[in-house]
Amino acid sequence: MPPGDGPARQHEHRADHPPVACDACEDVLRARGSHSPSFLLLDTLRVPVLGCDDHLEQFTTICGYTTTETPALLDHRPAGGVSCPSCGLAPHTPGQPVIPVHDGAVATLLCPEHQAALVSRFQTGLDTHHQLTESLDTP
Ligand SMILES: [Zn+2]
Ligand SMILES: [Zn+2]
Repeated sequence: MPPGDGPARQHEHRADHPPVACDACEDVLRARGSHSPSFLLLDTLRVPVLGCDDHLEQFTTICGYTTTETPALLDHRPAGGVSCPSCGLAPHTPGQPVIPVHDGAVATLLCPEHQAALVSRFQTGLDTHHQLTESLDTP
């Protein structure tokens, strides 16, 4: 059978995000709602995050470049929960954007305001990370 000419492939794609190369992330993101999020504590931000353990670690490390504090990753809701009421509602909102992390992706369950703040921190962290790895690669 020539490729691409078979019976219509059942390619159901119900996820509201592009496919993620990391299967473990993809699993968690698809099943969001049945996974309880981890919590990234980054300065004053308390960020409920979904993703596989590996990519959550990487995400935490990269965000950590933007602060002098060491960010923490909790596997449970922190005492007092999330301080922003809008963020508290975010987990129930469908279509949360995901942030690509290498070959994986994490979903942050934040209100649009905090989401934007976190994404810009992450971008800054990525830039720093690239600069660091570039200078390490240079003999
Ligand atoms: Zn992953
Ligand atoms: Zn918020």
